[in-house]
Amino acid sequence: MQKYGGSSVADAAGIKRVAQRIVNTKKAGHQVVVVVSAMGDTTDELIDLANEVSPLPPARELDMLLTAGERISMAVLAMAIQNLGHEARSFTGSQAGVITDAEHGRAKIIDVTPGRIEAAIGEGAIAIVAGFQGVSQTTKDITTLGRGGSDTTAVALAVALEADVCEIYSDVDGIFTADPRIEPRARKVPRISYEETLEMAAQGAKILHLRCVEYARRYGMPIHVRSSFSEKEGTWVVKAEDVVQEEGSMEAAIITGVAHDRSQAKITVVGVPDKPGEAAAIFRAVAEAQINIDMIVQNVSAAATSLTDISFTLPRGEGQTAMTALSRLQETVGFDSLQYDDSVGKVSIVGAGMSSSPGISARFFEALSEAGVNIEMISTSEIRVSVVVAETQVEAAVNAAHAAFDLGSDEIEAVVYGGTGR
Ligand code: ASP
Ligand code: MG
Repeated sequence: MQKYGGSSVADAAGIKRVAQRIVNTKKAGHQVVVVVSAMGDTTDELIDLANEVSPLPPARELDMLLTAGERISMAVLAMAIQNLGHEARSFTGSQAGVITDAEHGRAKIIDVTPGRIEAAIGEGAIAIVAGFQGVSQTTKDITTLGRGGSDTTAVALAVALEADVCEIYSDVDGIFTADPRIEPRARKVPRISYEETLEMAAQGAKILHLRCVEYARRYGMPIHVRSSFSEKEGTWVVKAEDVVQEEGSMEAAIITGVAHDRSQAKITVVGVPDKPGEAAAIFRAVAEAQINIDMIVQNVSAAATSLTDISFTLPRGEGQTAMTALSRLQETVGFDSLQYDDSVGKVSIVGAGMSSSPGISARFFEALSEAGVNIEMISTSEIRVSVVVAETQVEAAVNAAHAAFDLGSDEIEAVVYGGTGR
């Protein structure tokens, strides 16, 4: 199973290059199923187009429109492969048996019935599948899986077809210890566990679609993240026990990588009466607005007033909705005011080894302080420490953490081949 992202198939030259690569894999004796994303920035352009004709495009029609992007790449790629003398057949998500629920724009895969794909590869053809889309089991309408969803299509199909591996091709050579765009010393991680990858992805590292990693973990499908622009071995995302085993030592690195996220905002509810039920009311209102919050900090209340401040972070795009929902509560909860800050960023260190080594947070915070970075909020999990800092200090914080945990390589390893990401 191979999946090619938008930057790998951005133009005719890219499509021909990918076609050649697929043919080489086939010639090496493999049965090949390929999932493709839309060419380059097609999805964004289609969204812009929709917004030009309607301020609020209906979700069903938006999905119908966006799935066209992947259908263009699958057909053109199949043509390019046939031109190289090999049989290739393209399939929409629906034809490939990707069955989802009916949630347009963020549909979940509930079943994969790839009969037609099996038949195609059984006949010796290369099957090309449009990523990011499926068909609703109940409404029979065409759905999309959410931005970046082709990764999930690939893993789901790989599992259904019992593939040996799911190779995910993009414009970088693998998963790096930090984003090479801001940390030039970033090193490629040879192997990383599903859990660490999930934390990195959830903390803003733009490596893999979160749900694709969850899916792969559930079924133990190995993912090989690599570049379509080079032949280099990429990063293997595998079970935690396989990471240590393969590295042949009990001393896997304590910190695997540093992730950062500039898409968050912070809301502070100022002067909340310190009594039972207040936090519940605040977060109930946010939840009812369908907003996913991330970090929460409640300060100790000032003894004199018994008022406290509660801050939390959330995706920037949801800031307005959350502020509106909260301001409706001002009377009943009786807080003083609301503050909104969208010039924040989050920096996280992730590593399975940290649960058994003390002092990791101290080292992280010391490095930040030496770099003059002020910490606004902190949160941790068993394998992660995250801080919220001013957006202007994100880069400095990433560089400081990267150096503090000796993640850098001596030479520049990271090459970014393509354009805007995936
Ligand atoms: N083309 C879709 C997007 O850009 C899906 C994908 O690239 O995985 O979100
Ligand atoms: Mg894309």
